[in-house]
Amino acid sequence: MKNKKSEQIILKDVDLIDGEKNRIQKDMMIGIKDGVIENVERSGELEIPKETEVISLSGRIVISGMIDSHVHLFQSGVDDFMKPYAERLKTKFKRNCSITIESGVTTVRNMPGYDISKYRKKVKQGEIPGPRIIDSGPAISVPYSYFSKLSYMPFNAVLRFFMERIYRIKDLSIDVKNEKEAREAVKKIEKKGADFIKTITPGSNYPYAEEESYKQNLLEMGLKEEQIEASMDPEILKAITEQARKEDMKVACHNIYGPEGFSLAVEAGADSIEHSPIGLIDEETLELMVKNEVFWVPTIYAFYNWKNLIDNPDKYDSKEIKELIPEPLHSFGKKSLEKIREDIEQGGLWSKFYDEIDSMKEEYFPKNLERAMEKGVKIAAGVDCGAGGAGYVPHGQLYKELEVYVDNGMDEFSAIQTATKNAAELLGLDEKVGTIEKGKIGDLVVLGSDPLDDISNMKDVELVIKEGKILYSEIDVGG
Ligand SMILES: [Zn+2]
Repeated sequence: MKNKKSEQIILKDVDLIDGEKNRIQKDMMIGIKDGVIENVERSGELEIPKETEVISLSGRIVISGMIDSHVHLFQSGVDDFMKPYAERLKTKFKRNCSITIESGVTTVRNMPGYDISKYRKKVKQGEIPGPRIIDSGPAISVPYSYFSKLSYMPFNAVLRFFMERIYRIKDLSIDVKNEKEAREAVKKIEKKGADFIKTITPGSNYPYAEEESYKQNLLEMGLKEEQIEASMDPEILKAITEQARKEDMKVACHNIYGPEGFSLAVEAGADSIEHSPIGLIDEETLELMVKNEVFWVPTIYAFYNWKNLIDNPDKYDSKEIKELIPEPLHSFGKKSLEKIREDIEQGGLWSKFYDEIDSMKEEYFPKNLERAMEKGVKIAAGVDCGAGGAGYVPHGQLYKELEVYVDNGMDEFSAIQTATKNAAELLGLDEKVGTIEKGKIGDLVVLGSDPLDDISNMKDVELVIKEGKILYSEIDVGG
């Protein structure tokens, strides 16, 4: 890895996919000065000043730096949340950042869990090579629902105070009980320096609990009534989105299971819905998404990956995964996947969800994607890397999300846009990144082969430039 400081770089003999036009522009030159794209011209039309670093890229493709709209930089693709002793946070963060950069991702939208500000500053200053980080700060939840510390931590507030510090997850979430608390939470998160609000759609974490016998099962499994019943109130969600708008922040809603909560969150003014519902999104919701410019971040690959790992234990032992999730984290992952397998065999908590993944793959996702594309819903790619739970995706796998889109009928160019132009819009950075044009930040990725030909070529990353600096290179960049 190189971290060269050079004020000016010129890339020549470039085949360019600028993210705006659905074609390759052959034989181009791109000039970056002081971190900003200064020229995008046909080769030969640009005079090269002396002592400029010129990189010849003949036969290679240049795209805009990729953007992953849903990552967890402080997790490594296993349930390492409650295992702060396993590895220093800084070590983990640094590794996940460099894997991210090497995969061609120069900007991420990070989700809650830990206070990231100290580390983000180090990335900004160039001390840790890593992507630009748009961060959520703590999530807003309701007591006992998703992200709520009450689900992980003792009810006793004094005990919880210490536990939060031991596990370093005091910034995991803020639980709110009414609209007033919701507004206060938004203000507090804004003051902490977060860029957007992460919250949840209405719905129970245990969506089958309306079946009395299943609810009985859940109680026997040791769940509390409050956990089963907990659900974000649409009025509270509305208060969150209204306050967020006042603070000039967007609201990302983690979708809980079915499409009902998805629709309610769109109605309540969410800016993006994270993850894919188990079930079909109705037409009115899709139309409202287009009207209100609500993005969908499907993170669909994570679900497929999870089931794949449950069904094929050997896959988790691959060399690739062991490199991306080193020990002792790999062993944790292996153990918890084994536990989930046992739980599913015994018809436990995970089994209902597991049973739905095939319908998701065969029916819900393909139909939802097709209809969303037909209507013109904006889609931004995120791969949920880092998360344990129903994911287990290591960092650096954004291209796999794009592969699923293309497998389900999206054209390659649109798939590239979900990880560049669309994502930049979602992150509110579209004037700075997402396409290659004069005046934008010099975030560029050089691929060894053409992603319009085969979207899997998005993983063929040979050179990564962020803000005009080379952060990763497999090619001889000369001088
Ligand atoms: Zn996530």
